[in-house]
Amino acid sequence: MVHNKEFDIIIIGAGAAGMMCAHIAASKHKKVLLLDHSSRLAEKIRISGGGRCNFTNVNTNPECYLSQNKHFATSALSRYTPFHFTEILDKYNIGYHEKTLGQLFCNEKSQAIIDLLDQLCQENNVTRLMETSIISLDKINGRFKLETNRGIFNSETLVVACGGLSIPQIGASGFGYQIAKQFGLKIIDTRPALVPLTLNQETLASFSPLSGISFDSITSIGKVSFRENSLFTHRGLSGPAILQISSYWQHGESIKINLLPDKAIKSEILDNRSSNKLLRNFLHDFFSERLTERICELLGINRQLSQLSNKDIDKITSFIHNFEILPNGSEGYKKAEVTKGGVDTKFLDSKSMMAKNIDGLYFIGEVVDVTGWLGGYNFQWAWSSAHAAATSI
Ligand SMILES: Cc1cc2nc3c(=O)[nH]c(=O)nc-3n(C[C@H](O)[C@H](O)[C@H](O)COP(=O)(O)OP(=O)(O)OC[C@H]3O[C@@H](n4cnc5c(N)ncnc54)[C@H](O)[C@@H]3O)c2cc1C
Repeated sequence: MVHNKEFDIIIIGAGAAGMMCAHIAASKHKKVLLLDHSSRLAEKIRISGGGRCNFTNVNTNPECYLSQNKHFATSALSRYTPFHFTEILDKYNIGYHEKTLGQLFCNEKSQAIIDLLDQLCQENNVTRLMETSIISLDKINGRFKLETNRGIFNSETLVVACGGLSIPQIGASGFGYQIAKQFGLKIIDTRPALVPLTLNQETLASFSPLSGISFDSITSIGKVSFRENSLFTHRGLSGPAILQISSYWQHGESIKINLLPDKAIKSEILDNRSSNKLLRNFLHDFFSERLTERICELLGINRQLSQLSNKDIDKITSFIHNFEILPNGSEGYKKAEVTKGGVDTKFLDSKSMMAKNIDGLYFIGEVVDVTGWLGGYNFQWAWSSAHAAATSI
């Protein structure tokens, strides 16, 4: 039951950014209403990081984010860093560990982070309303008015923390973009990112024997590259290196994959030039059996090393270190970890996240055109942008 329908701040979206912003703003004695149309808090935190939430990355820096304005995230990220977030976890005895590449994960379930944010909201008297749908929203006489299925709420400040379009099954909606447009802000075209890529039937048929095989790789498009595992699936390509490069991929573009990042296959062959070993047996020292078979079939070469011509060696080298593949699409928002694009940062103040043209209207988290790499960067953006807004209100 909500008695007070007048608030200082209304936050739409009780996800990572919304909960973070709510407790910080409320700790400054502001009356805060946090509302969400879902029945459960921060579902994405719960399902993230395989259930253990990769909540930040110690290597966070603005270079790890995609945006039309590369510098937009710098201010918020520098004022609220991974260290600030781990400080709260330490204070509340929530254990975590670094897995790889600076990625910090909870020791226990992700729920620990949701419970902590919820506790901080409660300690600071945030009013929380779940299963609340907004019917209409306007700004009248300097105050925001929200008509919902639970009544009308007014506030001086409105924070939009609705997230992006990925995983609509658990509450994602384009509502944040709709609010932005309503108030005259522009949207940078959105599309699924950190997403598995699909292959056409013909290519898929030639790689289907490899489905389920994961291998160390460097994926690249132009000058951007990622060194992590790639994985063949029954629909195409996945694994961290593919998810990373998917954020940079555009229709019609091919991806280059270095199948053997740690070795130079040409020198390995040249060092064994006089050997009578078959190429297949030789390559099996570097690749799994199935992958070796496929490489040899696709190359159409299976001679002894001593019989390889220079042309053969160049062909093998190019195939292994510069393997080119042309995806025909992605698995879409149903499988994407994030949404690329969003509220155009040209319309936002990078220090406060407030809309430049509308006093009191803020956008934080994934709804903004700031998209992090895989590995905890997106949650860090949620925490940092939420902090920037909450401390400036
Ligand atoms: C499977 C998966 C795994 C991920 N793993 C990681 C990870 O390990 N590390 C990482 O950094 N990032 C990860 N991410 C990305 C990360 O979850 C998001 O970037 C982050 O949650 C964004 O926070 P947010 O608060 O902006 O949006 P969300 O967390 O998406 O919160 C938005 C909230 O707004 C609510 N909402 C939406 N529309 C409305 C509406 N119309 N009315 C009212 N409420 C509404 C939603 O119900 C939701 O509660 C993962 C994402 C997915 C899908």
